[in-house]
Amino acid sequence: MSEKYDVIVIGGGPGGYVAAIRAAQLGYKTACIEKRINKQGDPALGGTCLNVGCIPSKALLDSSWKYHEAEEAFSDHGIGVGKLNLDLDTMLQRKDKIVLQLTGGIAQLFKANKVDWLQGTGQLKANKQVAFKPLEGDEQTLEAENVVLAAGSVPIDIPVAEVDQQIIVDSTGALEFASVPKKLGVIGAGVIGLELGSVWARLGSQVTVLEAVDTFLPAVDQQIAKEAMKQFTKQGLDIHLGARVTGSKKNKNSVRVTYTDGDGEHEETFDRLIVAVGRRPYTEGLLSQDAGVTLDERNFIYVDNQCRTDVPGVYAIGDLVRGPALAHKAIEEGVMVAEVIAGEHTQVNYDAVPGVIYTHPEVAWVGKTEEEVKESGEPYKTGVVPFAANGRALAAGESAGMVKFVVDEKSDRVLGMHVLGPQASELVQQGVISLEFGASIEDLQLMVFGHPSLSETVHEAALATDYKAIHVAQRRRKK
Ligand code: FAD
Ligand code: AMP
Repeated sequence: MSEKYDVIVIGGGPGGYVAAIRAAQLGYKTACIEKRINKQGDPALGGTCLNVGCIPSKALLDSSWKYHEAEEAFSDHGIGVGKLNLDLDTMLQRKDKIVLQLTGGIAQLFKANKVDWLQGTGQLKANKQVAFKPLEGDEQTLEAENVVLAAGSVPIDIPVAEVDQQIIVDSTGALEFASVPKKLGVIGAGVIGLELGSVWARLGSQVTVLEAVDTFLPAVDQQIAKEAMKQFTKQGLDIHLGARVTGSKKNKNSVRVTYTDGDGEHEETFDRLIVAVGRRPYTEGLLSQDAGVTLDERNFIYVDNQCRTDVPGVYAIGDLVRGPALAHKAIEEGVMVAEVIAGEHTQVNYDAVPGVIYTHPEVAWVGKTEEEVKESGEPYKTGVVPFAANGRALAAGESAGMVKFVVDEKSDRVLGMHVLGPQASELVQQGVISLEFGASIEDLQLMVFGHPSLSETVHEAALATDYKAIHVAQRRRKK
């Protein structure tokens, strides 16, 4: 007889492992099927995010930023470090250690919550049956009252630059360069291209970013995006907009890339090339022909607001479904589906999912951009205050960037918060909370913020929407 579960989750990334733990907390007999083998050759939970995404990239961003500071900024503080030395092996090993610690931690959480980790591949069949092919051994058929599909996403390949993980790499290969490439090309000025380009630029690569679209970070408020472009360019990232890569030819230890822009065709040779042109839902092998689940026109699994697919009792979450491909969105969808299964009132507020780019300065936002609000035709006001007016930012030598609020003129409600600057990923949570609570900008204006703190710029930007900021000169509105 096949084994029966209340909940089977396919995929053990941030969406899947969280769904499994929450389902187990709610008292369900739960299994999570995960097929990943990590670079040490062992089965691993944590998905893209923990193994080859969020966490290792942040470890390298932090290490490379420390190196950059030692090289460029310590002397401003009167600290001399003598001749700086880069031990890339140690830096990469540190990243691997953090990944192992976190992925091992999830295995422990599974044990503590009595989630069965089934190591191997899962496929949804008709009638909520799941074919499970273990890493070793014969295929089994499992049955479940509920199935959660959480298979995530994989990098998009482009035929003009085929990834070999040696010279032309995707985001995973870009976490593993054995030495710092002298000349590094990056295709795509999205979040991943900018983060990984920054890591290697700080460690000494000469980095060129080729981006097909003419607008820099089109999803980001353009006042913030323009300033970010300036800052990144100042840091040495050579960003070409409107530059579409049309071909590449590999040599023994380099790659010649052809791209076209407004001026015609160009060629450039790089030692290494990162392809970072986006990710696509990973549906290969996930669904049998009669599974009954519908895909949308972009191959995402079609779901409603609460992540129900077209098959009752089958849910899909995370990068497999519509919405931003972000770990925290996957996590909250994981919690939501477990609670939907339990019949609880639950939801994800898709209007208040923050976005972050972990460059330096960081870029973070939540809610609507000024462009979006302008297009809606509704009257609005904005408040923008630079970190250059913040004592804490100056003390830390982190005065680039600004905080911006976009506010509904009529209701005074906060519509969006946009940050370029130090700790933007943390500061933006104040915008998340404001949106979630339906705060008016006056609420933020009347709050007391600790001094000196970066958050004071959030306060000042809130005040600036009504020409009340103290530490910037604002032209008073005529009554
Ligand atoms: P995944 O994390 O992709 O996990 C899915 C898992 O399912 C995988 O481990 C896969 O092996 C497994 N699987 C697939 N099919 C099957 C099957 N048939 N049977 C068994 N197992 C299967 N997001 C952020 O929010 N912040 C960041 O800073 C950030 N940085 C990133 C940096 C990089 C370099 C990359 C590549 C991504 C980054 N992301 C970041 C995005 C984030 O990693 C994803 O949004 C997140 O991992 C999605 O979670 P998920 O659970 O949907 O899928
Ligand atoms: P994201 O989806 O945020 O990861 O960003 C990926 C970026 O890659 C997008 O901005 C695309 O415009 C860009 N892109 C896709 N294909 C190409 C190409 N052939 N040449 C240059 N940029 C590209």
